[in-house]
Amino acid sequence: MAYDPSNIFARILRSEVPCHKVYEDDNTLAFMDIMPQADGHTLVIPRTPGENIHDLPEEALAATIRTTQKVAGAIRLAFDPPGIMIAQLNGAPAGQSVFHLHFHIVPRYAGKDFRMAAGEMADPAVLAEHAARIRAHL
Ligand code: 5GP
Repeated sequence: MAYDPSNIFARILRSEVPCHKVYEDDNTLAFMDIMPQADGHTLVIPRTPGENIHDLPEEALAATIRTTQKVAGAIRLAFDPPGIMIAQLNGAPAGQSVFHLHFHIVPRYAGKDFRMAAGEMADPAVLAEHAARIRAHL
């Protein structure tokens, strides 16, 4: 499948759709997931278009994982979760629903079940506060 430049993350990159931004640099953008699996659930995307891990040039992928490590560190300081899951899905059968490569950073807590499928939309004010908490550690 060819990369579709009208996908929601491409639109966020072009500032056509708002997001709660956590971090950005020349190559990457990190923002709060609109339907968080847990408080602090953040997405990291490359600016370079690519549907999945197979399509993205190596340098763009390296930049994305560097930002993922950096933001995960800030999430650890901001939320102090006992665990953090990094997830990246390739293809609809794997659960991918937005076809611009992204890494999920999801704080995990003992005894809290994890659902890969999206839950409910979060309150935008809560997302804004969580983004600010993470930014404070970057
Ligand atoms: P996937 O299932 O493709 O790995 O994950 C896509 C993620 O994007 C989901 O967790 C979903 O909640 C999130 N998402 C979908 N649309 C939007 C949006 O418009 N804004 C933000 N911030 N996240 C979105």
